[in-house]
Amino acid sequence: MIAFSYDRAQSPAEAAATALRTAGAKFIAGGTNLLDLMKLGIETPTHLIDLNGLGLDRVEATPEGGLRIGALVRNTDLAADPRVRRDYGVLSRALLAGASGQLRNMATTAGNLLQRTRCPYFYDTNQACNKRTPGSGCSAIGGFSRQHAVIGVSNACIATHPSDMAVAMRVLDATVATVRPDGSARVIPIADLHRLPGNTPHIETVLERGELITSVTLPKPAGGMQLYRKVRDRASYAFALVSVAAIVQRDGTGRVALGGVAHKPWRVEAAEADMPRGAKAVTQRLLAEATPTHENAFKVTLAERTLSSVLTQAKG
Ligand code: SF4
Repeated sequence: MIAFSYDRAQSPAEAAATALRTAGAKFIAGGTNLLDLMKLGIETPTHLIDLNGLGLDRVEATPEGGLRIGALVRNTDLAADPRVRRDYGVLSRALLAGASGQLRNMATTAGNLLQRTRCPYFYDTNQACNKRTPGSGCSAIGGFSRQHAVIGVSNACIATHPSDMAVAMRVLDATVATVRPDGSARVIPIADLHRLPGNTPHIETVLERGELITSVTLPKPAGGMQLYRKVRDRASYAFALVSVAAIVQRDGTGRVALGGVAHKPWRVEAAEADMPRGAKAVTQRLLAEATPTHENAFKVTLAERTLSSVLTQAKG
């Protein structure tokens, strides 16, 4: 075991400042991803900053008619919140499609957004992986890549983002509030939170060193039929091959985001103008730049068929 120190944060700003000045420090909340990574020797923090006492565990109405979700709200509690179930059905459904009941009881809102990819080569320290060890290469390119991304990829990494929740938050136009080590706050549109891999796949978000997510805000409800459809290799406790988060209005207009296809939740707002024309037209624009591997080209067709099914259900 690799030794590390531990303390409990007293405030978000103090936690952020500690993370900046302590080399190798990591935040821990639910621990559902980090502890696995530590056991495998993929994450080797020197210091853990426990956020669980910070009180960021409430869901509150905002003056604008939306909801502010504390960073430490557990996935189970968020999915079950009556306001989320009533007004943000796509989010509740996406949360319940993720992980298992036990994991959802521990996993937090911010941790869900920041979870690492499930690329099997990332988890195998005998394999080259630019995300785990920058500059070492990418074993997935030319390797087993059925689960991997089809769009927004690079020659350095073709991993997907594993979150279901983040896909729903993307279609809902959520914003992410943070505190930086100097105590200043900022708000990041969720569209901008996650990065594409480029040449630096180990840098997964735009968060600065030490910057701590404190909450996620949903704008006022978008209405419409809100659906989340996840296609996976088994019926539960599996990551998406493709997922679709959709909000469909009575007149056929709406919004759509895809999971399981890119390094971040994938949404192209311009493609949504084609929603009334059907799934094929939307998917052609959503995935126009797709460059699948020899093993995952099926995801392009699967995305179209899944969206088609969702649109049919919405009409029904
Ligand atoms: Fe690593 Fe990304 Fe390649 Fe997977 S796809 S092996 S995470 S660099």
